[in-house]
Amino acid sequence: MSTTWVPGADATGYGADNLPYGVFSRAGAPPRVGVRVGDLVLDLAAALDDPVFSAPSLNPFLARGSTAWRSTRAKVSGMLASAEGRPAAEPHLIPLAEVEIRAPFEVADYVDFYCSIDHAANAGRIFRPDSAELPRNWRHHPVGYHGRSGTVVPSGTHVVRPTGQRAPEDGGAPGYGPSERLDFEAEVGFVVGTSTSLGRTVPVGDFAEHVFGVVLVNDWSARDLQAWETTPLGPFLGKSFATSVSPWVVPLDALGAARIAGRPQDPEPLPYLRRVADWGLDLALTVELNGEVVSRPPYASMYWTPDQMLTHLTSNGASLRTGDLYASGTVSGPERGQRGSLLELSWAGADPLRLADGSERAFLADGDTVTVAATARGMGGGTISLGEVTGTVRPAL
Ligand code: MN
Repeated sequence: MSTTWVPGADATGYGADNLPYGVFSRAGAPPRVGVRVGDLVLDLAAALDDPVFSAPSLNPFLARGSTAWRSTRAKVSGMLASAEGRPAAEPHLIPLAEVEIRAPFEVADYVDFYCSIDHAANAGRIFRPDSAELPRNWRHHPVGYHGRSGTVVPSGTHVVRPTGQRAPEDGGAPGYGPSERLDFEAEVGFVVGTSTSLGRTVPVGDFAEHVFGVVLVNDWSARDLQAWETTPLGPFLGKSFATSVSPWVVPLDALGAARIAGRPQDPEPLPYLRRVADWGLDLALTVELNGEVVSRPPYASMYWTPDQMLTHLTSNGASLRTGDLYASGTVSGPERGQRGSLLELSWAGADPLRLADGSERAFLADGDTVTVAATARGMGGGTISLGEVTGTVRPAL
């Protein structure tokens, strides 16, 4: 499709067919909204002369709705991909090296789903070896839980090893102390722009009217806390200590060439959950542990698609707010090298992961750095980057 006049940008994954949004600040100046192109950020408030982008988060822009998202993308694209637009944009391009990248949006509510059939089946085999791999409800709706938005943190934030009640071994009493089974979960997150009123269900076909774009998520998980607390009300403190989010929100409009039909579903979902458009996404994730690729989870293998997640999330009439974030759940493919958590990669510690430096990991060690990155096919036929979300484990306080 289009290419940009910004030198080298199209080869970085941040060319004219990506144009993700984020929040940046220059020394001494308040944060504001920008669009990334190559290794530069376009100061939108200045380039478009629109104060909505002077806000320290994307939220006011998200609240404007899908018509405004599309017209803004067209304007920015016109500036960065045409010679006529160049004079208006060029003075407002700032090298990334001169700015600090912030959290892109203020998270309203946070929900985490469980939409990978391979991940759910692996978890079933590990935790409930004597039962069916999938819970009875799993193929009938996307399973999820409400998380803690206040501890959603930007990429780069250190993650302090959580403390809590650890599952007892062999039916004894629980211990209390730093988690001994700290894990990551490589996920994709969806950012809600347009709110709804109480009582209304968002139809599957309205997904792109409400969801602005996509981020990468690491849902850090303390498996020993989780195993002890989860019955009967679901995840609680084993998840809520930190959830990391990538800095650049890639608009759905940049992912047109990554859209796929989505995995076949059996049984056919109930009518309110039936797909009416292709919102499977062919995103190629990588998980690095201390710089070494340990997994390549394929988002294309997910069972429930994000349009179905949004509809199910609102099917009881729960309203949406600008800035709501919902994540897919751990992305795992059918192959061993495609598993999106250490729980699966080490089979709960039974088969530790061997790293290139000779060390082994059943779960994360203090000092470990986990980085989840992703790419997708761009509208121009090249590859676009969804950036990365990274975090380093610090010892318990
Ligand atoms: Mn999760």
